Amino acid sequence: MENIRVRIAPSPSGNLHIGTARTALFNYLYAKKTGGKFVLRIEDTDLERSNAEYTQNIFDSLKALGLQWDEGPDVGGEYGPYYQSERFDIYPKYAQILVDKGYAYECFCTPEELEAEKEEAMKNHKAYVYSRKCMNLSEKEKAELRAKGVKPSIRFKVEHKELIFNDLVKGELKFDTNLIGDFVIMKSNGTPTYNFAVVIDDMLMKISHIIRGEDHISNTPKQILIYEALGAEVPKFGHLGMILAPDRSKLSKRHGATAVSDFVKQGYLTDALINFVALLGWSPSDGVEIKPVDEIAADFRINDVSSSNSIFEYDKLNWMNGQYIKKMDISKLTDMAVPFLAKYDLSKMSRHNLEKMIEITREPITTLNQLEHDCAYFFGQDVDYAEGLQTLKQEAAPMVLNRLLELIDSYDFNSDEDIHDKLADFRAEFKEKHNMKPKETMWIVRAAITGRTRGADMAKTMTILGKDVCVHRIKKALEV
Ligand code: GLU
Repeated sequence: MENIRVRIAPSPSGNLHIGTARTALFNYLYAKKTGGKFVLRIEDTDLERSNAEYTQNIFDSLKALGLQWDEGPDVGGEYGPYYQSERFDIYPKYAQILVDKGYAYECFCTPEELEAEKEEAMKNHKAYVYSRKCMNLSEKEKAELRAKGVKPSIRFKVEHKELIFNDLVKGELKFDTNLIGDFVIMKSNGTPTYNFAVVIDDMLMKISHIIRGEDHISNTPKQILIYEALGAEVPKFGHLGMILAPDRSKLSKRHGATAVSDFVKQGYLTDALINFVALLGWSPSDGVEIKPVDEIAADFRINDVSSSNSIFEYDKLNWMNGQYIKKMDISKLTDMAVPFLAKYDLSKMSRHNLEKMIEITREPITTLNQLEHDCAYFFGQDVDYAEGLQTLKQEAAPMVLNRLLELIDSYDFNSDEDIHDKLADFRAEFKEKHNMKPKETMWIVRAAITGRTRGADMAKTMTILGKDVCVHRIKKALEV
């Protein structure tokens, strides 16, 4: 079997985008499924737009999502360096090979001259391609231009033909290379263009399959032409449909988070996120959508990936995140919840109670940032009665609360079961003596102790708060 090697090649000009995470995942899944290698390369040739913080964010986000690479900047590998900025000395050599073989030539046109060519094409309603003005310059002409201080770029000479390739996702694709024009591979400042650097790197890193977003489709013919000119084996390409916002426009910050780290800050679990992005273009053969990445990998086939665009449904992500929150190991979930409770003094709460609080509040939430509101009444002596005020103003409230104060001394605050049973007796008493519905009685108790009309299991809430706080709040509630 051929050696399967795939890669993700992000440019560190921003935090890891959720779309890049999906591309990384599909590459990772393909590697896992086929026993191949997953390579990370940082495309930081645009030194002005790249920065180390973004690079770190890319590492952290990929790791948090569980997409560990086999080769890359930090782990190394046979085909490094894995930072493009450390490979600058490699590209001119290959550009020179292309020039020597007649596949590329030096171009001395100034930006102004090129601009004029473009304007002329526009005036004539023609698609612009470079005029090839510099293609046949003599050595003498070139020397003269050089003497004047003009630094040449290097252009790839595009052979006119119909270029056909079989895309793993999109099927057969045809391009008329006449429409491409001779494109620059090395800029006059000696740095490579994206299309050139990416081919040289993928070639030297022995990448066998290039799976990426379809926004790169127009680059693919140029890249294939370079492989062919170098006599290198052309990798297989698979272009994924785009991820669009619910309104079918480009996914952007105005729709919600777009960077993986922003989703995490809002309380999405990375397990849920990665599961969710897997479904953007792929569907499980058994119809079960919620499953971990290793199960997805076992079921993954690149040819099954949908070639159309996918809609990023934030509602569905919320639902899925809620499912993960409900099922997650409680100790792990508690660790993840702690940063979302920074407003409260957690030092006064035992780990046991902290886990218990998360256990009884996780049911309705879809993102961890909802915990700050939902857990508020577990902290401090007093609560805000705004929400529960109507309930506390009911005629029956003083009677219920005074009776609770009478009985509470007999409640065992070390036992959830004891308080659970005693509250059941309490409800039964009011049903029998005053014909009150059990839930009406409990609403009053809840409003007094938590200030809320809904919330977590009452018996467990009371054992977490302890007797003193409960008594204090019941007395306060009688005053309001
Ligand atoms: N650095 C490019 C990007 O982030 C890589 C594109 C490719 O996969 O070839 O879009």
